[in-house]
Amino acid sequence: MRYGINTIDDFQVAGKTVLCRIDINQPIDTVNGTLKDINRITAVVPTIRELSDKGARVVLLAHQGSDIEYHNYYTTRPHAAILQELLERPVRFIDDVCGPAARQAIAELRDGELLLLDNVRFMAEEQTLFELHLRLDHRQQSQTMLVRQLAPLADLYVCDAFAAAHRDQPSLCGFEQILPSAMGRLFEAEYSVISGLMRQPEHPCVFILGGAKIDDAFQMMRTVLSSGVADKVLTGGLVAEVLAWGDGQDIGTKARELIEYKGFGKLVPVARELLGEFGDQIIMPVDYAYVSDNKRKETIGGPIPPAALITDIGSKTAAAYQEMILAAKTVFVNGPMGVFEEALTEKGTRMVWDALGKTSAYTVVGGGDSIAATHKYQQSGRIDYICTGGGALIRFLAGEELPVIRALRHGSGNMK
Ligand code: ADP
Ligand code: MG
Repeated sequence: MRYGINTIDDFQVAGKTVLCRIDINQPIDTVNGTLKDINRITAVVPTIRELSDKGARVVLLAHQGSDIEYHNYYTTRPHAAILQELLERPVRFIDDVCGPAARQAIAELRDGELLLLDNVRFMAEEQTLFELHLRLDHRQQSQTMLVRQLAPLADLYVCDAFAAAHRDQPSLCGFEQILPSAMGRLFEAEYSVISGLMRQPEHPCVFILGGAKIDDAFQMMRTVLSSGVADKVLTGGLVAEVLAWGDGQDIGTKARELIEYKGFGKLVPVARELLGEFGDQIIMPVDYAYVSDNKRKETIGGPIPPAALITDIGSKTAAAYQEMILAAKTVFVNGPMGVFEEALTEKGTRMVWDALGKTSAYTVVGGGDSIAATHKYQQSGRIDYICTGGGALIRFLAGEELPVIRALRHGSGNMK
Protein backbone atom coordinates (compact mmCIF):
# COMPACT_ATOMS: atom_id res chain seq x y z
CA MET A 1 0.00 0.00 0.00
CA ARG A 2 1.33 3.45 -0.96
CA TYR A 3 -0.52 6.76 -0.70
CA GLY A 4 -3.52 4.86 0.68
CA ILE A 5 -3.73 2.74 -2.48
CA ASN A 6 -2.91 -0.96 -2.87
CA THR A 7 -0.10 -1.95 -5.19
CA ILE A 8 0.35 -5.24 -7.02
CA ASP A 9 2.49 -6.37 -4.08
CA ASP A 10 -0.64 -6.54 -1.92
CA PHE A 11 -2.10 -9.45 -3.94
CA GLN A 12 -1.38 -13.03 -4.91
CA VAL A 13 -2.32 -12.89 -8.56
CA ALA A 14 -1.41 -16.42 -9.72
CA GLY A 15 -4.43 -18.08 -11.29
CA LYS A 16 -6.52 -14.94 -10.75
CA THR A 17 -8.36 -13.02 -13.44
CA VAL A 18 -7.09 -9.45 -13.35
CA LEU A 19 -8.88 -6.62 -15.16
CA CYS A 20 -6.15 -4.14 -15.98
CA ARG A 21 -7.14 -0.68 -17.26
CA ILE A 22 -4.30 0.86 -19.23
CA ASP A 23 -3.95 4.10 -21.21
CA ILE A 24 -2.50 3.26 -24.61
CA ASN A 25 -4.33 6.03 -26.43
CA GLN A 26 -2.01 7.13 -29.23
CA PRO A 27 -2.24 9.32 -32.30
CA ILE A 28 -3.39 6.98 -35.07
CA ASP A 29 -3.76 6.96 -38.83
CA THR A 30 -7.33 5.71 -39.03
CA VAL A 31 -7.13 5.12 -42.79
CA ASN A 32 -4.32 2.57 -42.55
CA GLY A 33 -4.85 1.59 -38.92
CA THR A 34 -1.26 2.41 -37.98
CA LEU A 35 -0.15 4.03 -34.74
CA LYS A 36 1.97 7.16 -35.13
CA ASP A 37 3.61 6.72 -31.73
CA ILE A 38 3.86 3.89 -29.19
CA ASN A 39 5.35 5.59 -26.10
CA ARG A 40 2.31 4.95 -23.91
CA ILE A 41 2.21 1.30 -24.97
CA THR A 42 5.88 0.89 -24.10
CA ALA A 43 5.28 2.47 -20.70
CA VAL A 44 2.68 -0.10 -19.52
CA VAL A 45 4.65 -3.14 -20.62
CA PRO A 46 6.34 -3.72 -17.21
CA THR A 47 3.02 -4.00 -15.35
CA ILE A 48 1.54 -6.37 -17.92
CA ARG A 49 4.67 -8.49 -18.03
CA GLU A 50 4.78 -8.72 -14.24
CA LEU A 51 1.13 -9.81 -13.98
CA SER A 52 1.58 -12.39 -16.71
CA ASP A 53 4.88 -13.67 -15.24
CA LYS A 54 3.16 -14.12 -11.90
CA GLY A 55 0.52 -16.32 -13.55
CA ALA A 56 -2.42 -13.91 -13.67
CA ARG A 57 -5.03 -14.19 -16.42
CA VAL A 58 -4.79 -10.66 -17.70
CA VAL A 59 -7.70 -8.83 -19.32
CA LEU A 60 -6.62 -5.46 -20.71
CA LEU A 61 -9.11 -2.62 -21.01
CA ALA A 62 -8.20 0.50 -22.95
CA HIS A 63 -9.59 3.37 -24.99
CA GLN A 64 -8.47 4.88 -28.29
CA GLY A 65 -9.74 8.36 -29.19
CA SER A 66 -13.21 9.47 -28.19
CA ASP A 67 -16.16 11.60 -29.19
CA ILE A 68 -14.12 14.75 -28.59
CA GLU A 69 -10.98 13.24 -30.10
CA TYR A 70 -12.82 11.70 -32.99
CA HIS A 71 -9.93 11.75 -35.48
CA ASN A 72 -8.28 9.16 -33.21
CA TYR A 73 -11.41 7.08 -32.52
CA TYR A 74 -10.57 3.54 -33.56
CA THR A 75 -10.42 -0.11 -32.56
CA THR A 76 -7.60 -1.23 -30.25
CA ARG A 77 -6.68 -4.09 -32.59
CA PRO A 78 -3.39 -2.49 -33.76
CA HIS A 79 -2.36 -2.00 -30.12
CA ALA A 80 -2.58 -5.75 -29.49
CA ALA A 81 -0.05 -6.41 -32.23
CA ILE A 82 2.37 -3.84 -30.78
CA LEU A 83 1.92 -5.19 -27.24
CA GLN A 84 2.61 -8.68 -28.50
CA GLU A 85 5.86 -7.53 -30.10
CA LEU A 86 7.01 -5.61 -27.03
CA LEU A 87 6.07 -8.37 -24.59
CA GLU A 88 7.36 -11.17 -26.82
CA ARG A 89 4.36 -13.29 -25.95
CA PRO A 90 0.90 -13.73 -27.49
CA VAL A 91 -1.68 -11.02 -26.83
CA ARG A 92 -5.11 -12.11 -27.96
CA PHE A 93 -7.49 -9.44 -29.24
CA ILE A 94 -11.28 -9.70 -29.32
CA ASP A 95 -13.41 -7.18 -31.19
CA ASP A 96 -15.92 -6.92 -28.38
CA VAL A 97 -15.90 -4.94 -25.13
CA CYS A 98 -18.21 -6.73 -22.72
CA GLY A 99 -20.63 -8.75 -24.85
CA PRO A 100 -20.80 -12.57 -25.07
CA ALA A 101 -17.68 -12.87 -27.26
CA ALA A 102 -15.58 -10.84 -24.80
CA ARG A 103 -16.90 -12.75 -21.81
CA GLN A 104 -16.21 -16.08 -23.45
CA ALA A 105 -12.67 -15.03 -24.34
CA ILE A 106 -12.10 -14.03 -20.72
CA ALA A 107 -13.45 -17.35 -19.46
CA GLU A 108 -11.06 -19.21 -21.79
CA LEU A 109 -7.92 -17.47 -20.49
CA ARG A 110 -5.32 -19.65 -18.81
CA ASP A 111 -2.72 -18.63 -16.26
CA GLY A 112 -0.30 -16.05 -17.64
CA GLU A 113 -2.32 -15.40 -20.80
CA LEU A 114 -3.18 -11.96 -22.09
CA LEU A 115 -6.31 -10.61 -23.75
CA LEU A 116 -6.96 -7.08 -25.01
CA LEU A 117 -10.62 -6.09 -25.33
CA ASP A 118 -11.83 -3.63 -27.93
CA ASN A 119 -11.98 0.15 -27.37
CA VAL A 120 -13.96 0.71 -24.13
CA ARG A 121 -15.22 3.97 -25.61
CA PHE A 122 -17.43 1.93 -27.90
CA MET A 123 -19.65 2.00 -24.78
CA ALA A 124 -21.68 5.22 -24.47
CA GLU A 125 -20.89 5.71 -20.77
CA GLU A 126 -17.16 5.89 -21.55
CA GLN A 127 -17.55 8.89 -23.84
CA THR A 128 -16.36 12.31 -22.73
CA LEU A 129 -19.58 14.17 -23.58
CA PHE A 130 -21.51 11.57 -21.60
CA GLU A 131 -19.15 12.13 -18.68
CA LEU A 132 -19.51 15.90 -18.86
CA HIS A 133 -23.29 15.94 -19.21
CA LEU A 134 -24.47 13.06 -17.07
CA ARG A 135 -21.85 13.12 -14.32
CA LEU A 136 -22.49 9.64 -12.93
CA ASP A 137 -21.06 9.16 -9.46
CA HIS A 138 -18.82 6.17 -8.84
CA ARG A 139 -21.66 4.05 -7.45
CA GLN A 140 -23.70 4.72 -10.62
CA GLN A 141 -20.64 3.97 -12.74
CA SER A 142 -20.39 0.59 -11.05
CA GLN A 143 -23.92 -0.18 -12.26
CA THR A 144 -23.21 0.44 -15.95
CA MET A 145 -23.30 -2.40 -18.44
CA LEU A 146 -19.52 -2.52 -18.73
CA VAL A 147 -18.89 -3.00 -15.03
CA ARG A 148 -21.87 -5.30 -14.44
CA GLN A 149 -20.80 -7.61 -17.26
CA LEU A 150 -17.08 -7.76 -16.54
CA ALA A 151 -16.65 -7.43 -12.78
CA PRO A 152 -18.18 -10.86 -11.98
CA LEU A 153 -15.52 -12.49 -14.17
CA ALA A 154 -12.60 -10.85 -12.37
CA ASP A 155 -10.85 -11.23 -9.01
CA LEU A 156 -8.91 -7.98 -9.05
CA TYR A 157 -8.98 -4.59 -10.79
CA VAL A 158 -5.64 -2.93 -11.53
CA CYS A 159 -5.49 0.60 -12.87
CA ASP A 160 -2.29 1.54 -14.66
CA ALA A 161 -3.84 4.42 -16.60
CA PHE A 162 -2.33 7.43 -14.87
CA ALA A 163 -2.69 9.49 -18.06
CA ALA A 164 -6.48 9.04 -17.76
CA ALA A 165 -6.66 9.58 -13.98
CA HIS A 166 -8.54 12.88 -14.43
CA ARG A 167 -11.42 11.12 -16.23
CA ASP A 168 -14.52 10.15 -14.32
CA GLN A 169 -15.70 7.11 -16.28
CA PRO A 170 -16.85 3.55 -15.47
CA SER A 171 -13.77 1.71 -16.77
CA LEU A 172 -11.65 3.96 -14.54
CA CYS A 173 -13.78 4.62 -11.45
CA GLY A 174 -16.58 2.02 -11.46
CA PHE A 175 -14.79 -1.28 -10.84
CA GLU A 176 -13.25 -0.04 -7.59
CA GLN A 177 -16.73 0.04 -6.05
CA ILE A 178 -17.01 -3.73 -6.43
CA LEU A 179 -13.62 -5.37 -6.85
CA PRO A 180 -10.45 -5.37 -4.75
CA SER A 181 -8.30 -2.78 -6.50
CA ALA A 182 -4.70 -1.73 -6.93
CA MET A 183 -2.62 0.66 -8.98
CA GLY A 184 -0.16 -0.72 -11.52
CA ARG A 185 3.59 -0.03 -11.62
CA LEU A 186 3.38 2.89 -14.07
CA PHE A 187 0.65 4.57 -12.04
CA GLU A 188 2.74 4.09 -8.93
CA ALA A 189 5.84 5.57 -10.57
CA GLU A 190 4.06 8.60 -12.02
CA TYR A 191 2.23 9.29 -8.78
CA SER A 192 5.45 9.02 -6.85
CA VAL A 193 7.42 11.37 -9.13
CA ILE A 194 4.84 14.12 -9.26
CA SER A 195 3.81 13.95 -5.62
CA GLY A 196 7.53 14.14 -4.77
CA LEU A 197 7.77 17.18 -7.02
CA MET A 198 4.91 18.81 -5.10
CA ARG A 199 6.22 17.89 -1.63
CA GLN A 200 9.83 18.85 -1.58
CA PRO A 201 11.47 19.89 -4.82
CA GLU A 202 15.05 21.07 -4.67
CA HIS A 203 15.25 24.83 -5.19
CA PRO A 204 15.52 26.82 -7.38
CA CYS A 205 12.52 25.04 -8.88
CA VAL A 206 11.44 26.31 -12.28
CA PHE A 207 8.18 25.46 -14.04
CA ILE A 208 7.97 25.98 -17.80
CA LEU A 209 4.48 26.23 -19.23
CA GLY A 210 3.60 26.59 -22.90
CA GLY A 211 1.49 24.83 -25.49
CA ALA A 212 -2.00 25.37 -26.76
CA LYS A 213 -4.21 23.29 -24.42
CA ILE A 214 -3.99 25.65 -21.53
CA ASP A 215 -7.32 25.27 -19.68
CA ASP A 216 -5.72 24.34 -16.37
CA ALA A 217 -2.36 26.09 -16.76
CA PHE A 218 -3.28 29.14 -14.68
CA GLN A 219 -4.84 27.20 -11.83
CA MET A 220 -1.72 25.09 -11.71
CA MET A 221 0.48 28.20 -11.78
CA ARG A 222 -1.42 29.61 -8.82
CA THR A 223 -1.07 26.36 -6.86
CA VAL A 224 2.66 25.90 -7.39
CA LEU A 225 3.48 29.57 -6.78
CA SER A 226 1.33 30.06 -3.70
CA SER A 227 2.58 26.82 -2.11
CA GLY A 228 6.19 27.82 -2.77
CA VAL A 229 6.84 24.69 -4.87
CA ALA A 230 7.89 26.79 -7.87
CA ASP A 231 10.21 29.76 -7.57
CA LYS A 232 9.65 30.87 -11.14
CA VAL A 233 7.30 30.04 -13.98
CA LEU A 234 8.72 30.58 -17.47
CA THR A 235 6.02 30.96 -20.09
CA GLY A 236 5.69 30.35 -23.81
CA GLY A 237 3.01 29.27 -26.28
CA LEU A 238 -0.52 30.47 -25.66
CA VAL A 239 0.13 30.68 -21.92
CA ALA A 240 2.52 33.58 -22.56
CA GLU A 241 0.16 35.25 -25.02
CA VAL A 242 -2.78 35.16 -22.62
CA LEU A 243 -0.54 36.60 -19.89
CA ALA A 244 0.74 39.33 -22.19
CA TRP A 245 -2.83 40.23 -23.12
CA GLY A 246 -3.81 40.28 -19.44
CA ASP A 247 -0.80 42.53 -18.84
CA GLY A 248 -2.19 45.03 -21.35
CA GLN A 249 0.37 44.33 -24.10
CA ASP A 250 -0.66 44.39 -27.74
CA ILE A 251 -0.29 40.81 -28.94
CA GLY A 252 -1.92 41.52 -32.31
CA THR A 253 -5.39 40.86 -33.70
CA LYS A 254 -4.62 37.35 -34.90
CA ALA A 255 -3.38 36.11 -31.53
CA ARG A 256 -6.40 37.64 -29.80
CA GLU A 257 -8.70 35.95 -32.32
CA LEU A 258 -7.00 32.58 -31.80
CA ILE A 259 -7.32 32.89 -28.02
CA GLU A 260 -11.03 33.81 -28.27
CA TYR A 261 -11.63 31.04 -30.81
CA LYS A 262 -10.13 28.47 -28.44
CA GLY A 263 -12.35 29.72 -25.62
CA PHE A 264 -9.42 31.07 -23.59
CA GLY A 265 -10.69 34.66 -23.53
CA LYS A 266 -12.02 33.99 -20.04
CA LEU A 267 -8.48 33.30 -18.88
CA VAL A 268 -7.30 36.85 -19.63
CA PRO A 269 -8.66 38.33 -16.36
CA VAL A 270 -7.36 35.27 -14.49
CA ALA A 271 -3.92 35.95 -15.98
CA ARG A 272 -4.13 39.63 -14.99
CA GLU A 273 -4.94 38.71 -11.41
CA LEU A 274 -2.08 36.21 -11.24
CA LEU A 275 0.35 38.81 -12.54
CA GLY A 276 -0.84 41.15 -9.80
CA GLU A 277 -0.07 38.57 -7.14
CA PHE A 278 3.01 36.83 -8.51
CA GLY A 279 4.29 39.30 -11.11
CA ASP A 280 7.96 38.95 -10.25
CA GLN A 281 7.88 35.15 -10.40
CA ILE A 282 5.99 34.78 -13.67
CA ILE A 283 8.40 35.32 -16.54
CA MET A 284 6.96 36.48 -19.86
CA PRO A 285 8.80 36.55 -23.20
CA VAL A 286 10.66 39.76 -24.03
CA ASP A 287 10.47 38.97 -27.73
CA TYR A 288 8.36 36.82 -30.05
CA ALA A 289 8.73 35.16 -33.44
CA TYR A 290 6.30 34.97 -36.35
CA VAL A 291 6.44 33.94 -39.98
CA SER A 292 6.21 36.47 -42.77
CA ASP A 293 7.10 35.95 -46.47
CA ASN A 294 8.09 32.41 -45.57
CA LYS A 295 10.80 33.67 -43.23
CA ARG A 296 11.21 33.70 -39.47
CA LYS A 297 10.94 37.22 -38.10
CA GLU A 298 11.42 38.34 -34.51
CA THR A 299 9.96 41.34 -32.72
CA ILE A 300 13.19 42.11 -30.78
CA GLY A 301 11.28 43.94 -28.10
CA GLY A 302 9.36 46.04 -30.65
CA PRO A 303 5.65 45.78 -31.38
CA ILE A 304 4.05 42.83 -33.11
CA PRO A 305 3.07 43.81 -36.69
CA PRO A 306 -0.72 43.93 -37.07
CA ALA A 307 -0.93 41.11 -39.63
CA ALA A 308 1.43 38.75 -37.77
CA LEU A 309 0.51 35.72 -35.64
CA ILE A 310 2.96 34.88 -32.86
CA THR A 311 4.09 31.28 -33.25
CA ASP A 312 7.23 31.11 -31.11
CA ILE A 313 9.15 32.89 -28.40
CA GLY A 314 12.04 35.03 -29.65
CA SER A 315 15.77 34.18 -29.46
CA LYS A 316 16.49 36.60 -26.60
CA THR A 317 13.74 35.02 -24.50
CA ALA A 318 14.92 31.51 -25.33
CA ALA A 319 18.50 32.40 -24.32
CA ALA A 320 17.29 33.85 -21.00
CA TYR A 321 15.21 30.70 -20.36
CA GLN A 322 18.27 28.55 -21.09
CA GLU A 323 20.22 30.35 -18.37
CA MET A 324 17.45 29.90 -15.82
CA ILE A 325 17.16 26.20 -16.67
CA LEU A 326 20.90 25.72 -16.26
CA ALA A 327 20.84 27.48 -12.86
CA ALA A 328 17.87 25.45 -11.54
CA LYS A 329 17.85 22.33 -9.36
CA THR A 330 14.39 21.16 -10.43
CA VAL A 331 12.65 21.82 -13.76
CA PHE A 332 9.14 20.78 -14.73
CA VAL A 333 7.95 21.33 -18.31
CA ASN A 334 4.55 21.09 -19.94
CA GLY A 335 3.88 22.50 -23.38
CA PRO A 336 6.22 23.60 -26.19
CA MET A 337 7.28 27.24 -26.56
CA GLY A 338 5.92 27.55 -30.08
CA VAL A 339 4.72 25.67 -33.12
CA PHE A 340 7.73 23.38 -32.95
CA GLU A 341 6.36 21.10 -35.67
CA GLU A 342 7.34 23.76 -38.26
CA ALA A 343 10.99 24.47 -39.09
CA LEU A 344 10.62 28.26 -38.92
CA THR A 345 9.02 28.28 -35.50
CA GLU A 346 10.82 25.50 -33.65
CA LYS A 347 13.80 27.51 -32.44
CA GLY A 348 12.39 28.50 -29.02
CA THR A 349 11.33 24.96 -28.19
CA ARG A 350 14.59 23.49 -29.47
CA MET A 351 16.66 25.89 -27.35
CA VAL A 352 14.64 25.17 -24.21
CA TRP A 353 14.87 21.42 -24.77
CA ASP A 354 18.63 21.67 -25.43
CA ALA A 355 19.00 23.31 -22.02
CA LEU A 356 16.87 20.57 -20.43
CA GLY A 357 19.35 18.06 -21.79
CA LYS A 358 22.33 20.02 -20.42
CA THR A 359 21.17 21.12 -16.98
CA SER A 360 22.16 19.16 -13.89
CA ALA A 361 18.69 19.87 -12.48
CA TYR A 362 16.15 17.09 -11.93
CA THR A 363 13.98 17.36 -15.03
CA VAL A 364 10.39 16.20 -15.53
CA VAL A 365 8.52 16.54 -18.82
CA GLY A 366 4.81 15.79 -19.29
CA GLY A 367 2.20 16.17 -22.04
CA GLY A 368 1.80 14.46 -25.41
CA ASP A 369 3.37 17.19 -27.52
CA SER A 370 6.10 17.86 -24.99
CA ILE A 371 7.06 14.19 -25.17
CA ALA A 372 7.04 14.45 -28.97
CA ALA A 373 9.43 17.44 -28.68
CA THR A 374 11.63 15.41 -26.32
CA HIS A 375 11.96 12.70 -28.96
CA LYS A 376 12.37 15.18 -31.81
CA TYR A 377 15.30 16.87 -30.05
CA GLN A 378 16.68 13.52 -28.91
CA GLN A 379 16.65 14.38 -25.24
CA SER A 380 14.75 11.32 -23.94
CA GLY A 381 17.90 9.84 -22.47
CA ARG A 382 18.75 13.06 -20.63
CA ILE A 383 15.38 13.93 -19.10
CA ASP A 384 15.02 12.40 -15.63
CA TYR A 385 11.34 11.54 -15.88
CA ILE A 386 8.95 11.57 -18.82
CA CYS A 387 5.37 11.42 -17.59
CA THR A 388 2.80 9.81 -19.92
CA GLY A 389 0.05 11.99 -18.49
CA GLY A 390 -0.92 15.39 -19.87
CA GLY A 391 -4.28 16.54 -18.54
CA ALA A 392 -4.06 14.28 -15.47
CA LEU A 393 -0.63 15.60 -14.60
CA ILE A 394 -1.69 19.24 -14.85
CA ARG A 395 -4.82 18.71 -12.75
CA PHE A 396 -2.77 16.87 -10.16
CA LEU A 397 -0.24 19.70 -10.03
CA ALA A 398 -3.15 22.15 -9.77
CA GLY A 399 -3.90 20.48 -6.45
CA GLU A 400 -7.02 18.55 -7.44
CA GLU A 401 -7.84 15.10 -6.12
CA LEU A 402 -8.19 13.09 -9.32
CA PRO A 403 -11.33 10.91 -9.69
CA VAL A 404 -9.34 7.74 -10.33
CA ILE A 405 -7.16 8.31 -7.27
CA ARG A 406 -10.26 8.80 -5.14
CA ALA A 407 -11.79 5.63 -6.61
CA LEU A 408 -8.61 3.61 -6.06
CA ARG A 409 -8.41 4.74 -2.42
CA HIS A 410 -11.99 3.56 -1.99
CA GLY A 411 -11.28 0.28 -3.80
CA SER A 412 -8.21 -0.36 -1.69
CA GLY A 413 -10.61 -1.06 1.17
CA ASN A 414 -12.24 -3.97 -0.71
CA MET A 415 -9.92 -6.82 0.21
CA LYS A 416 -10.84 -10.36 -0.65
P1 ADP B 1 1.29 19.18 -24.41
O1 ADP B 1 0.67 18.07 -25.22
O2 ADP B 1 2.75 19.02 -24.24
O3 ADP B 1 0.54 19.44 -23.13
P2 ADP B 1 -0.23 21.20 -25.75
O4 ADP B 1 -1.11 20.18 -26.33
O5 ADP B 1 -0.77 22.06 -24.68
O6 ADP B 1 1.13 20.53 -25.27
O7 ADP B 1 0.30 22.18 -26.91
C1 ADP B 1 1.03 21.67 -28.02
C2 ADP B 1 0.70 22.44 -29.27
O8 ADP B 1 0.78 23.83 -29.04
C3 ADP B 1 1.66 22.16 -30.39
O9 ADP B 1 0.95 21.50 -31.43
C4 ADP B 1 2.16 23.54 -30.83
O10 ADP B 1 2.24 23.67 -32.23
C5 ADP B 1 1.12 24.46 -30.26
N1 ADP B 1 1.60 25.81 -29.98
C6 ADP B 1 2.66 26.17 -29.23
N2 ADP B 1 2.81 27.50 -29.20
C7 ADP B 1 1.82 28.02 -29.95
C8 ADP B 1 1.42 29.35 -30.31
N3 ADP B 1 2.11 30.41 -29.88
N4 ADP B 1 0.34 29.50 -31.10
C9 ADP B 1 -0.34 28.42 -31.52
N5 ADP B 1 -0.04 27.14 -31.21
C10 ADP B 1 1.03 26.94 -30.45
MG1 MG C 1 -0.60 21.52 -22.51
